[in-house]
Amino acid sequence: MAGKPLYRYVLTCDGDGCDATLGANGELENAIVARTIAATQGWALVPKLRANGKPGKAVRSDGNTANAHDVCPDCQPTFQPERMASRANTYVRDLQEENQRLRAQLSSRGHQP
Ligand SMILES: [Zn+2]
Repeated sequence: MAGKPLYRYVLTCDGDGCDATLGANGELENAIVARTIAATQGWALVPKLRANGKPGKAVRSDGNTANAHDVCPDCQPTFQPERMASRANTYVRDLQEENQRLRAQLSSRGHQP
């Protein structure tokens, strides 16, 4: 006997109080397929706002869409995007990551001054 997990993607609208979904019957195999179909049905990927109130980048260069909302056609006229985490938070996180990277480099060299 053999089995494998089945992965499916369901898109949900980020509109306030909206319960619109796409792929609820398991017909979409992943996020890319889901958003491609969604675009043909009028759904939009709406970028969150930067600290300065201007829209950010909906899709990062690595394909990550954490800074975007999926919005169905009905919600688009009134949809209000969220604001991203402030730049200060990002700056601190970037510093921490840089710090960890440097430490890893140092330890791989055996901490030689
Ligand atoms: Zn909606």
